[in-house]
Amino acid sequence: MELVLGTRNSGKISELKELCRPLGIQVCSLEHLSKAIHVEEIGASFLENATLKAVLQAKALGRFVLAEDSGLVVDSLNGEPGIYSARWSGEHASDSENNRTLLSRMKEFPHERCAHYECHAVLSDPSGNVVAHSSGSCHGDIATSLRGIAGFGYDPLFIIREYHSTFGELSDMVKSVISHRARAMRALLPVLENLTQISFKQ
Ligand code: IMP
Repeated sequence: MELVLGTRNSGKISELKELCRPLGIQVCSLEHLSKAIHVEEIGASFLENATLKAVLQAKALGRFVLAEDSGLVVDSLNGEPGIYSARWSGEHASDSENNRTLLSRMKEFPHERCAHYECHAVLSDPSGNVVAHSSGSCHGDIATSLRGIAGFGYDPLFIIREYHSTFGELSDMVKSVISHRARAMRALLPVLENLTQISFKQ
């Protein structure tokens, strides 16, 4: 039994693998699948992009695919970077470049630092039918400098208020309980559990 994770982002892959572990489902990412396609993220929302990534990849591979689209939403920046989180500083921007952009844009807003991460997950069957979708969010504040090296993306700048620490400073275990991705995945667990009765490989 094997579920395809519709992503090539190494940070997401390790978190999603860990979140699927309790189910005993084998998961693999797109990295080693020669038939995997590149899906353009042309949707206007996280849900639209997650659906495109799950459905088009599932049809191309003829496999069950779990895909997610996620990003950072900053209140004082009117929701930026949102669905453009990965490419905020350019098409192939690195996490460091995106973090520099965030710090620079936030200089205008020294006291309005509220933000949240959002994640929409979609599971498609091998024919491209959406079997389930879910979402999760995680609220915090944007730090004034990079703190810690854990996680990926904007994590060194994302403060979890209850811990007075960024995700960059917190352990993977904490993130695996309270993150937007963890919450979206937990909401999908009952569906995934049911599907383990069926073979994911068709
Ligand atoms: P996607 O691959 O189009 O869904 O873009 C996701 C982007 O959102 C990542 O490249 C990060 O910039 C950001 N992001 C999403 N989830 C996280 C997270 O858990 N930590 C840090 N950044 C995240």
